[in-house]
Amino acid sequence: MFDINRIRSDFPILGTKVYGKSLVYADNAASTQKPSQVIDSIKDLYSNHYANIHRGVHHLSQKSTALYEGARGTVKDFINASKVEEIVFVRGTTEGVNLVASSYLEPRLDPGDEILISEMEHHSNIIPWQLTAERTGAKLKIIPLLENGELDISKLPDLLTPQVKLVAVTHMSNSLGTLNDISPIIERAHNMGIPVLVDGAQSIAHMPIDVQALDCDFFVFSGHKIYGPTGIGVLYAKEDHLLSMKPYQGGGDMIMNVSFEKTEYNDIPYKFEAGTPNIEGTIGMAAALDYVSGLGIEVIDSYEQELLVYATERFSEIEGLQIIGTAPRKGSIISFVLDGIHPHDVGTIMDMEGVAVRTGHHCTQPVMDYYNIPATTRVSLSFYNTMGEIDEIAKAISKVKELMG
Ligand code: PMP
Repeated sequence: MFDINRIRSDFPILGTKVYGKSLVYADNAASTQKPSQVIDSIKDLYSNHYANIHRGVHHLSQKSTALYEGARGTVKDFINASKVEEIVFVRGTTEGVNLVASSYLEPRLDPGDEILISEMEHHSNIIPWQLTAERTGAKLKIIPLLENGELDISKLPDLLTPQVKLVAVTHMSNSLGTLNDISPIIERAHNMGIPVLVDGAQSIAHMPIDVQALDCDFFVFSGHKIYGPTGIGVLYAKEDHLLSMKPYQGGGDMIMNVSFEKTEYNDIPYKFEAGTPNIEGTIGMAAALDYVSGLGIEVIDSYEQELLVYATERFSEIEGLQIIGTAPRKGSIISFVLDGIHPHDVGTIMDMEGVAVRTGHHCTQPVMDYYNIPATTRVSLSFYNTMGEIDEIAKAISKVKELMG
């Protein structure tokens, strides 16, 4: 069912040698590699169909426009939104969160209001809210972590006060791997009339997403973490929210009529897509979503869970290695620390063995503070990784111990 060799042959970069060794790419939570189908879609656009979109009557402009709007339909289907109007193309997760903070939340905040986030958020789901809070006199409240890397949901009833005007929470932690059970959070917030933004930057590539079933108000993700290009991402928002929101940026394409006295804005979602957008990014991202759909996200999920179980077992056997993030429900991410060895040394030596991992705080400094560590080494796996590669990673960790221990 899962022909790993065929799948790997779709990703030209996986054949790379690093210091004469076969590359083991295990930095997928930072960014994923791209299959030929994505690379070719962009080449095809530039070779055969490219022009600026929307404003042209000529053939190529209409072709580009059809591909760009077709990509919107692909995204809508991939996350099961009810309408294409609910899909806004943005630069990535970060821009999606900033857009909601500025255009949706900020005009609704008064001094003393609260924004509820969690202790495991990526900096891009912290700082936009902090900036908005600073400008309005609102404050941030935090759902705390538990030792195993889960959120302490028992605190939710106390935290969800009528002052809370929005909850923003990640679906899957990029530094711990924790999969959050967000449905009960959304339900509880909605019972109090509070909207919820879900950061789907990590979850999008690892599990089926159904925004209607989740009933979230906003869902954001980045193309580059799901095998698509960088510089493109998606803000899903319920239609009523988008209709009620002010534009985020002004410029071409987001207007109906402009005079110096008054500007009439375009319909949603165009109202939020000022200027010439990342045309090739949207088309490449749609090719990536088609690729993932072709493999089947459920199939991907179950294979990656097997990788996670095996890697967890292998790494746990290594003396002096402590896994940070041991929640019962995790995506294929294993963060760890090695006794007495700084993660930057771990990453550098592993690189010499051809193994690409990420070391640092992973843009989640509050998580590092919680565990009282400066950084971790993070192995993040994708469906194109193999059990054999996990053995190679374990060997590279042993090499680190040998050299530094
Ligand atoms: N949230 C999470 C959970 C992430 O992992 C990341 C990327 N590491 C982001 C947000 C930000 O994504 P981007 O840099 O693509 O905007």
